[in-house]
Amino acid sequence: MNLLTDAWIPIQHQGNYQKIGLQQLLCGETDGELCLPRDDMELACLQLLCAIAQVLFTPKDKKELGRLVQQPLTPEIYAEVCKDKLDWFDLNHPQTPFMQIRGVDAKEPTPMEKLLAGVADGTNKAFVNPPGLGEALCGGCVAVSLFNVANNSPSMGGGFKGSLRGSTPITVLIKGKDLRQTLWLNVLTEETAESVMPWYQKTKNQRPNYLDRVNAGEKIPASSIGLVRGLLWQPSHFELLPVENNAICSCCGCEEPVYRGFKKAKFNYTVEGIWPHPLSSRTFTVKKGEKEEKFPSFTSTAPTWTHLSKLVVDQLEDTQNGQQAAPVLQQARKLIAADKIHLIVGGYRNNKATVLERRHEFFSLAQGWAEHGLVIHKITQGGLAYRSALHKALYLFAVGVKDKVHGSGVNLCNPVEANYYQQTENLLHQTFACVNFAAPDSTLQALNRKLKAVVLDLFEQATKPYRQEPKMLKALALARRSLHKSLNELEPEGAKT
Ligand SMILES: [Zn+2]
Repeated sequence: MNLLTDAWIPIQHQGNYQKIGLQQLLCGETDGELCLPRDDMELACLQLLCAIAQVLFTPKDKKELGRLVQQPLTPEIYAEVCKDKLDWFDLNHPQTPFMQIRGVDAKEPTPMEKLLAGVADGTNKAFVNPPGLGEALCGGCVAVSLFNVANNSPSMGGGFKGSLRGSTPITVLIKGKDLRQTLWLNVLTEETAESVMPWYQKTKNQRPNYLDRVNAGEKIPASSIGLVRGLLWQPSHFELLPVENNAICSCCGCEEPVYRGFKKAKFNYTVEGIWPHPLSSRTFTVKKGEKEEKFPSFTSTAPTWTHLSKLVVDQLEDTQNGQQAAPVLQQARKLIAADKIHLIVGGYRNNKATVLERRHEFFSLAQGWAEHGLVIHKITQGGLAYRSALHKALYLFAVGVKDKVHGSGVNLCNPVEANYYQQTENLLHQTFACVNFAAPDSTLQALNRKLKAVVLDLFEQATKPYRQEPKMLKALALARRSLHKSLNELEPEGAKT
């Protein structure tokens, strides 16, 4: 099964499902959207396709990338760019199988489900996954799983190394008009690559680490890892068991040759520093003169929009802490600044090796997004500030003020906060998609009015059952005073009551 020549990409077009080859996709012979039953696998499949596109063809500059976005490749050019890379993408290659190492020494084979993030690692999995998922996987689904485990999901734990981005990074991709465009919009030009990794030129001919292996115990500076090597980085030693006869793939449901297990072995090395992954933003803080960088991840149940500023907006003025958008977005600011942009955002939320939640969402940002990052920041901050006002009031209702007001002992913070996020999610999405970035004031005011109404309504609803409790009246009055004070502080100057 070779990812460059076989038909493994599951797509849906006008109600028809089929698997197509990369050539059909890049040469514009077939159109459609990716289609896999698991949303995280679909996202990983897209990431893998973008990585392959980057490996096959790194455009020189904006102009060349623009041409790729507009015009499909010819089959001759496709064959030409694949020629030297066929050995990199063959799942069953005798020496250098895709994202695997030959000769992995393991006593017992590991069942396939271990390659599907979140299937075999937790307690309430029946809730997230249908039973039987991951018993047998076809070549395409295995390739996507290997790539997903190497890039997005927590490591297997117990001494297995995690991805270059840490355990569960948030991934951001740009969505184009169709799948082919989406692939190219997430490919870096040489120009962009040089600006985000100054070592790009001298490392651009490196091969993946499953071809040119890392030595055990090696210390590897992130700044020695080239673009292609980093995109296909395999942190662990895995080897698939030989492919078997046709069976139903428990991920995509197609009847194809399947894999039923793999071998895995611990392998230790250290990557020093942070590798600037094209699809991830980074935040930084300076501690004792040392810059510490991190990839944002979903650490709570707060919805994805609360992270949007971190994902899209650069804040580099403050030398102590700040953030920088993903390299693909830095590039898009020059490439599609004049248009609306559509983003795909996803990732896992974990507790160590256990996946608690997975996300795969879409955001649109109105035209003007590229120059007016501050507006995105303000919208996000506004949404969070109204949540805080509500939280603070309900917290006071629960605990009161020491020696002065006796708290009610009823903590409504978490359920009401969940309601707040639920009731405001569409509103926030709409605001990002429709705001006039050049003159945002009226939109911001309207947003604040609506958020305020939601907060007041939720507060009244939540505390209603306790209004008749004499012992709680003081706590309720305290909470209400706090809420009105906070809401008043959120009004723009001049409008305060
Ligand atoms: Zn499959």
